Parts: sequence; C-alpha cells; structure tokens
Amino acid sequence: MSSQEIVNRSLRWQVGNGKRIRIWEDKWIPTPSTFRINSPSNHLPREALVSSLINNRSATWKSKVVKHVFLQHEADAILSIPLSQYLPEDKLVWVGTQNGMFTVLSAYKLAMESLLGPHNAGNSNQGLKPLWKRIWSVNVPSKIKCFAWRVCKRIPPTKATLCHRPIISDPVCEVCGLAAETTGHLLWESNKAKEIWNEVSLNLEGLGHGCEDFTDILWKFIEIEPSSPMNLELFITICWGIWLNRNEVRNGEPVKSGGEIVRRALYLVDEFFPANLPAQNKASAKEVKWSALPRNKLKINVDGAIFKNVREAGVGVIIRDSQGQVVATQSKKIPFPIGAIEAEALAVESGILFASNLGMTEVI
Ligand SMILES: [Zn+2]
Repeated sequence: MSSQEIVNRSLRWQVGNGKRIRIWEDKWIPTPSTFRINSPSNHLPREALVSSLINNRSATWKSKVVKHVFLQHEADAILSIPLSQYLPEDKLVWVGTQNGMFTVLSAYKLAMESLLGPHNAGNSNQGLKPLWKRIWSVNVPSKIKCFAWRVCKRIPPTKATLCHRPIISDPVCEVCGLAAETTGHLLWESNKAKEIWNEVSLNLEGLGHGCEDFTDILWKFIEIEPSSPMNLELFITICWGIWLNRNEVRNGEPVKSGGEIVRRALYLVDEFFPANLPAQNKASAKEVKWSALPRNKLKINVDGAIFKNVREAGVGVIIRDSQGQVVATQSKKIPFPIGAIEAEALAVESGILFASNLGMTEVI
C-alpha cells in the first residue's frame, strides 16, 4: 500500500457544526474499526448531514433523535462526541492519533497495521521494539518501568482511555476542564504538566506540542536524549510521579507542586540508580547456556540468592525474547533467614507473578 493510500484511508471528520459531514457516507464516529455508521438508514434521507442531529442554539446533540435513529452502540458513540459551543467548521483529521494530529509514529503504526492486520501490528509492535527495549533497560524500580510500558500500551486508565472502551462518557480532564484526559495531556500538555517539566533540568526542547499520545513524546525523548546516564530514568520517574499524584488527588490527598513531584522523582532515581548498576558482581553469576526458543515465546529465568554475611536474601527474574534479548528484569529482597530451596521456590513464584503482571502469556 502506498503512503498516499494510507493517508487517504486514515482521515476522518472531526465534528464541528456537522454541515460538511454526510451521516451515512463519511467517516465521523469514534469507532476505530471503520469510523462509519452501520445502523440502517430507515429514518433519515441518504444525503442527510450530521448538522441535522445538532441543536444549533445549545450546541448539543439532539439526543432523542440520535437514540431513535441509530443502533444503541452507535448512538452512544455519537453522543460521546464533544461539541464546541462555538460550532466551528468540521475538520478532516488524522485517525492515527486521538487528537487528529499527524505524527510519524502513528503513521508508522497505521502502515504496519495495513501490512500485518490490526491484530498483529498491535501486538507484536515490531517497529516499536527499540522503544520497548530501551524502556526495559531503564534503571528504575520495576513498578515505574511497568508504568512507562503501560503508558505506551495505553493501559493507564486515563479518562480518555476509559471513554474509548467505553466505561465513562466524559473524557474531560478534571483538573483544568479544558481537554480530554489523555496520557499526552496528563503527562505533557496540561498546565500542570508544563509547570512540572519547567522545574527539571532536562533538555526537553524539540519534543513538540499538541500530542495526545505520550508514546510520541517518549519516543522523541529517547531519540534526542543526551547520552548522560539517568536522564531517561528521571524522565520516566517524573511521569510516574505525575500519574501517582493524579491518583492521590482523586483519593482526596493534596495536589503536589511541580517542585515536589520533581524532588520526589530525583530522590527515587538517586536512591535506586547507583544501587543497581553493577548487577554482575553482586551474586555468584553462574554460566547459563542460552537455548533458542520458538518464535513469539518469552523465556523466564529466575534465581534465588542468599547473602549470609549481610543476612539478606533476594530473588532475580529475567525475561528474554526468542532472540535472547532481555525484555524485562526484576530483583527484590525476600525475608531472611531462608533456605536455598525456599529461596528458589520464591524466585519461581515471583517470576511467574512478574510476567503475568506484565501481561505476558506466551512464556516458557
Ligand atoms: Zn487538564
């Protein structure tokens, strides 16, 4: 498929006043498979426009009409489309991102989808492999690493993703009320996020604006990231801190200032990073022979270790893909004293838990 075809296929309408959009022909509803209406057109003429479904005075959907004309899931999808009170012109937008802005990464994903089918492209993410690898190699606590990975997989339940599923119908950010709460808004675009990033001495120029999918920002950051260690660690840990405080606020805890969020992240990175650098000389590293795996399987290796002199014990987990590339690691302390066999058993248990927490199922 040519890039022109991909672009043509990948445009849809963003509803303003609905005057340019044909209800039955055009792509305009937020159902990612087709963006088109499938309900039978019994009630409205074939050439009817979306504007006939909108109350001009109040800039709201004529919800009774919508519910009467369309199948329920499509009516729900239509009613979830936000209308601006100014009823601007309709716009053609890019379907690859939630906000309709074109990005190279989203075009790449669409191209992969048209080659491999949405399922394969979405799951294997071959093109994103360098991104995953870089994220898994980051030297931060595994909960933060998982958070970064989940952001890229759009797993954190921001209001926009919940709306998309759809669990809630209002995607608007509760802090500012100005935009949908996407990962891009929450972690990058919102005034709160900007306040936080202003406090950091990282070079963030060139990362751009107008991005609702945080994967794009992370990808660019990794590309332009100066080679000095800990930058990506700090970047990701701050994101995690923003998400944590967002959830704390929802639980009635106070809003943290940008400075506080950055200091907490700096503290975490500082504490974790040096302690985890020379992993090789910590335990007696056994030679382990790597045997090749069937494709698309992941292999978990675990080890339990007891350090009698410091009265501590720990387990380590390492997950590799079929090429032997490390995709995830975890190490943690376990209660001491403990016997060697028990330590190994705990190691196996935490390996399985770790993999299943990451959503990995094809494991050996
Ligand atoms: Zn906001």
